[in-house]
Amino acid sequence: MTNQSDTFKKVISHAKEYGFVFQSSEIYDGLSAVYDYAQNGVELKRNIREYWWKAMVQMNDNIVGLDAAIFMHPTTWKASGHVDAFNDPLIDNKDSKKRYRADVLIEDYCAKIELKIEKEIKKAEKRFGENFDKNEFINTNGRVLAYQDKITAILSRMGRSLENEDLADVKALIQELEISDPLTGSKNWTDVKQFNLMFGTKLGANAESAMDLYLRPETAQGIFVNFLNVQKTGRMKIPFGIAQTGKAFRNEIVARQFIFRMREFEQMELQFFIKPGTQAKWYEHWKEARMKWHISLGMGTDNYRFHDHDKLAHYADAAADIEFKFPFGFKELEGIHSRTDFDLSQHQTYSGKKLQYFDHEENKNYTPYVLETSIGLDRMFLAVFSNALTEETLDNHTTRTVLKLPAVLAPIKAAILPLVKKDGLPEVAKTIFNDLKWDFNVVYDEKDAVGRRYRRQDAVGTPFCITVDHDTLEDKCVTIRNRDSMEQQRVKIDDIKAIIENKVAMKHWLKEL
Ligand code: ATP
Repeated sequence: MTNQSDTFKKVISHAKEYGFVFQSSEIYDGLSAVYDYAQNGVELKRNIREYWWKAMVQMNDNIVGLDAAIFMHPTTWKASGHVDAFNDPLIDNKDSKKRYRADVLIEDYCAKIELKIEKEIKKAEKRFGENFDKNEFINTNGRVLAYQDKITAILSRMGRSLENEDLADVKALIQELEISDPLTGSKNWTDVKQFNLMFGTKLGANAESAMDLYLRPETAQGIFVNFLNVQKTGRMKIPFGIAQTGKAFRNEIVARQFIFRMREFEQMELQFFIKPGTQAKWYEHWKEARMKWHISLGMGTDNYRFHDHDKLAHYADAAADIEFKFPFGFKELEGIHSRTDFDLSQHQTYSGKKLQYFDHEENKNYTPYVLETSIGLDRMFLAVFSNALTEETLDNHTTRTVLKLPAVLAPIKAAILPLVKKDGLPEVAKTIFNDLKWDFNVVYDEKDAVGRRYRRQDAVGTPFCITVDHDTLEDKCVTIRNRDSMEQQRVKIDDIKAIIENKVAMKHWLKEL
């Protein structure tokens, strides 16, 4: 059995070795928490983006897309609250000189208590065997209840203190819980301070007229300021949504978890505009719809859970995360927020322009409420990639590394392999390749023994290998090998396209939604 950090190290090294993710500016020793997507990574990332886009925009006739600029008028960030409130509480350890997010230290402490609960459940499962009722156990076992109460008490105190800007109490909590530096064990902490996460820059050539700008810390505001433009030109009727994917920038305090927390990353966001008072219904609707989207990829229902927020952001009246089981435990993958009319009202106030909707049925104007779903594309990439990376011991006691990506997301859909580099086999293989490339991202590979070529494709997650051998010249058939089962089937050349299409076409996957 490997432990969590070994698994995560393997994920990072596999991502580099097989051309998925490189550290930015590596030849200059890299740039902290900034990454580049390589030849296979860029395809996987595009496929995830497209799967999201189709599910949101193409499948819903009341959702349209937008691609707003990264630079926005600086007043945007005053109105949105980011200038004043987009802070993280940071704390330094005086001995190790390491910097941490105070809230994350406390949350990690609670995660450890949660592990204890899981241990109790496992023990009880063993003891009671088939008669074990997990829910009943969680709701009645004294020790589990005490652990849960402790977590609730800690998190609600933290939530209260952060909301009231009582940073002294956040430090007091860290001290009372005897939380130590995870790296060194030292408990010698500084006070907790607020740190604004926005990157500043300047627009304009000369110093006098230059304007201070921010790189956007979220894509959402580009949607809000365009709300009326889209509504009017698209003749949109409430409820309707605007979806956007794009870069966001945050000067994260701690960014040590590969592409989980980056300083430059990509978001995929939906802002869904609704009638005030209907937010509870739409909140449930989008929680369910987004969870379905995740489950549709077949990465295991047990790997997801909802986490309802105790501490609400300044704009929200309800919020939940979809958490995923990353190699380092359950962590936020996507946020679903009921944002009320906070953003549109703020932009009305700061711009002096009306951002209202005339509801013909009700015969009145109102400022719509907003339901947001917001997922990090890079974080989704990490979820998909880490979940897919598998090491298998085969019957002959050798191991194989295989990336069991959902076929719809795989960077390469099929590899076309002539068994040998002679006797006319490459020509047939190239004809097949040239035929398939119109529909799928495919590769042609003739180097090395066929077994090694299979392994190369397994490692990058290619669902199918198609081998052309001497019999192909006679029977017009090829061998098609399935990545996960390694089964090989003899099929007609004419049937290849339908076989691949059946497994990888986005429409088949979207129909499961
Ligand atoms: P966290 O609590 O992890 O900092 P957040 O609650 O600030 O995240 P949101 O502002 O709700 O995150 O952003 C929505 C989504 O954007 C998150 O669920 C996550 O997937 C992604 N995201 C946020 N910050 C980062 C980052 N620094 N790097 C990569 N993805 C991020």
